[in-house]
Amino acid sequence: MGDTRHTRLLIIGSGPAGYTAAVYASRAMLNPVLVQGIQPGGQLTITTEVENWPGDTEVQGPDLMVRMEAHAKAMGTEIIGDIITTLDLSRRPFTAVGDSGTTYTADAVVLATGAQAKWLGIPTEEKFKGFGVSACATCDGFFYRGREVVVVGGGNTAVEEALFLTNFATKVTLVHRRDELRCEKILEHRLRANPKVELVWNKTIEEILGTDAPAGVTGVRVKDTRTGEESVIPCDGFFVAIGHAPASELVKDQLELHHGGYVKVEPGSTRTSIPGVFAAGDLTDHTYRQAVTSAGMGCMAALDAEHWLQEQAAAPEVKAAE
Ligand code: FAD
Ligand code: NAP
Repeated sequence: MGDTRHTRLLIIGSGPAGYTAAVYASRAMLNPVLVQGIQPGGQLTITTEVENWPGDTEVQGPDLMVRMEAHAKAMGTEIIGDIITTLDLSRRPFTAVGDSGTTYTADAVVLATGAQAKWLGIPTEEKFKGFGVSACATCDGFFYRGREVVVVGGGNTAVEEALFLTNFATKVTLVHRRDELRCEKILEHRLRANPKVELVWNKTIEEILGTDAPAGVTGVRVKDTRTGEESVIPCDGFFVAIGHAPASELVKDQLELHHGGYVKVEPGSTRTSIPGVFAAGDLTDHTYRQAVTSAGMGCMAALDAEHWLQEQAAAPEVKAAE
């Protein structure tokens, strides 16, 4: 049996949304507890240069997140390295159980669990995950020094991953299912100017080809979306960069969701369908999904939680009736 501990505000997630909520909640004297999850610092820890965080012309993603953690800690947040495995929002105080065995009870909760990489879902992808198939160029790019890689996707992540991989690989082929990228124009410009990059349009990935012993990727079989013609692109590594899905597993049967799994909040606020539960960042944002917007929503969530807790304290009979 693990410990049980109570907090006024439990923040779940340690990306820009969680840490910003922590800074504001600490300054509101709520003594928040923040549980970091499996990826302390969130998605920015798997990228390199961030060029659109205001105040920093360029900052390394992992460095920015170390600074955010230090800021939250300095303001008084208790930061815990644990993963919430279950969350019961059916009664108050809300109850979360951590992988460590600790039970956290909380008067209010800020959900900031962000998003996770999507996979193509083809059988050979699973087979070669960790053996030539990756969703993180920053983590695995180094293994492809002097080799050829394929990246699939057409958004900011795919283009950034492709550009990053040119630091190691001799050739980077970006395969996209349409003939137009959806990334920022500055990134597209850099991509097109890079002599190591080849762009392959209107192709879907049908199969990842490889060997069993030793396990490794040798190429991808692609299909032309217009003609149906199939061909093979040889490569040693295959990077999936087709977007991210909200990490709403903990609350999917408890809160109202929309747009394929994003937590629904009242427009202009971070209030979810359960009073006392607030959501911020990529978990609730199917449109912008940026570090700065996540941080902004983290701020809103802490302020919303503070006001809600004040209301509860001022009107205990309302609390009892709810
Ligand atoms: P995340 O950063 O996704 O963090 C989620 C947090 O929740 C993690 O700490 C995780 O451990 C935690 N968590 C999840 N489940 C649990 C659980 N069960 N228990 C406890 N904790 C849990 N945006 C930009 O503005 N500029 C960029 O240059 C940029 N580059 C990017 C590059 C890449 C490769 C990627 C993938 C994204 C990039 N983004 C960029 C987008 C940006 O990273 C996200 O918008 C932002 O990180 C979202 O912040 P968040 O706090 O909502 O969630
Ligand atoms: P995204 O913008 O949703 O783009 C996903 C890309 O993958 C799209 O081009 C999409 O094709 C393609 N795709 C989706 N499913 C596919 C499938 N099954 N097969 C083949 N291709 C598929 O995702 P993202 O690039 O990860 O970006 C997520 C968010 O993070 C965005 O808001 C982005 O701005 C942000 N981000 C920002 C930065 C930055 O600011 N520098 C960097 C990285 C990420 P279609 O185009 O045809 O839909």
